[in-house]
Amino acid sequence: MTIDWTKIRADFPLLARQVHGKPLIYLDSANTAQKPAAVIAAVDAFYRQHNANVSRAVHQLGSEATEAYEGARRTLAAFLHVRADELVLCSGTTFALNLVAYSWALPRLQPSDVILVTRMEHHANIVPWQLVAQRTGATLRVAELRPDGSLDLEALWAAMTPDVKLLAVAHVSNVLGTVNPVAAICREAARRGIVSVVDGSQAVPHMSVDIAAIGCDFYAATGHKLCGPTGTGLLWAKREHLQAMPPFLGGGEMIKEVRFDGTVFNDPPHKFEAGTPNIAGFVGLGAAVDYLSAIGMDAIQQREAELLAHATEALAQIDGLRIHGTAPDKAAVISFSIDGIHSHDLATLLDLEGVAVRSGQHCAHPLLQWLGVGTTCRASLAFYNTHDEIDAFVAALHKVKRLLA
Ligand code: PMP
Repeated sequence: MTIDWTKIRADFPLLARQVHGKPLIYLDSANTAQKPAAVIAAVDAFYRQHNANVSRAVHQLGSEATEAYEGARRTLAAFLHVRADELVLCSGTTFALNLVAYSWALPRLQPSDVILVTRMEHHANIVPWQLVAQRTGATLRVAELRPDGSLDLEALWAAMTPDVKLLAVAHVSNVLGTVNPVAAICREAARRGIVSVVDGSQAVPHMSVDIAAIGCDFYAATGHKLCGPTGTGLLWAKREHLQAMPPFLGGGEMIKEVRFDGTVFNDPPHKFEAGTPNIAGFVGLGAAVDYLSAIGMDAIQQREAELLAHATEALAQIDGLRIHGTAPDKAAVISFSIDGIHSHDLATLLDLEGVAVRSGQHCAHPLLQWLGVGTTCRASLAFYNTHDEIDAFVAALHKVKRLLA
């Protein structure tokens, strides 16, 4: 079946707008993805027709809202090949990783323990572990990269010494685009008794992810990069961990019974969902997953690989432009710098041409220090981008470079 990508692009109302009098070319989907009309409509319909709190009221709207929220959990679970009762819904990857840090790692780690992270992690997969290390006396160890921005697997295996208790690794780097062989990494970790945490923020929107096949202990992802509303995300964890972990936040919904002499907590995943959740957000995220599934994640991955190849080839023609991250297995994220030009200047002038790219350190200071360039520009593609947009972006880059030279 051939897919009409022009028609798919038209599903995204925002992509029709102009910026500074120019047609918008949105190349910042790694930061947050645009939303198809189906997602906007699902959120709108929830508030117009079904709005009520979940799991609290016996009235009709209450059960409709609960069904919509739990339905979204089931949709997400099927999408990721896991059980719905092992999926904690939360505000995003940042919350999900902090939940693991505070509920799993903090009560367990000792001063002699090591937490292993990689050089390419987002701050959300570094700082929570640093905070745990400070409080427990554990040490943070860093697995380094090869020059092409792939993980040095020999060095990673060597770093997995018996004192390592937890390994935190990105599935896909938000700066380099590197796709890490997480199944092999988690298998090796499990063999050595190391608990593995995978940050799937940049993977789930771009490829078919089967968490069960990866074999990790924890997998975190964020909804707004998956064409869903902001403030939505998830943590999948092995049932044994969810059962053993104490709650992170206390409040309504996460309890079975509260007495002043002791509280009985709810079963997982509800034990970790204190308070009123982002119900409408998850209804929107469920619609986003339905939308992406109808296109097919394999087709999306293929489309983005074609766009990446086109953009990489065109950018290579620009004198003085360097692409950071050239691993063979790479998602459609292109970080680059141009000799003698600051990335903020590039991004600012590109914006005047209607092109939205991100500039700076991309919440990955240790990686940027390793790259030795201070900051980069990042063009991140999605299936709704077009080959014409890539040509227009490259033409704008030529123009901006001439202006700044
Ligand atoms: N990890 C990675 C790899 C990311 O790209 C991001 C988002 N930039 C995050 C974690 C944090 O996600 P959120 O801000 O949605 O919690």
